[in-house]
Amino acid sequence: MKRDIALLAVVLAVCAAAYGLLLLRPSAESVKIFVDGQLQKTFLLADNTEYIIKTPYGANTLIIQNKTARIAYSDCPNGLCRGATIVRRGESIICAPHHLLVTTGRAAGVDAVSG
Ligand SMILES: [Zn+2]
Repeated sequence: MKRDIALLAVVLAVCAAAYGLLLLRPSAESVKIFVDGQLQKTFLLADNTEYIIKTPYGANTLIIQNKTARIAYSDCPNGLCRGATIVRRGESIICAPHHLLVTTGRAAGVDAVSG
């Protein structure tokens, strides 16, 4: 009986360790682009890409490189977003004149990309 309990403890410990590893595993980050509150495009932060965000108010050039996302160029009047960079999850770039929000999150939503 004692042996069974010891075995159970070992099994539980292994399960807990495996679960812990799953939790600790870093998840891929996504970069989501919203215009007027609507999701326009999703990228992975691991992608190295350049994308021109076209909004009804103007255009922004987003560059994703080395796991950072950056607004390289914008034709918005105040230019506040130019050079803005996202590195960590939960950070955002806002371009108010273009009603644009670029934000990071878990990669789970990537499947929901539509065009
Ligand atoms: Zn701007």
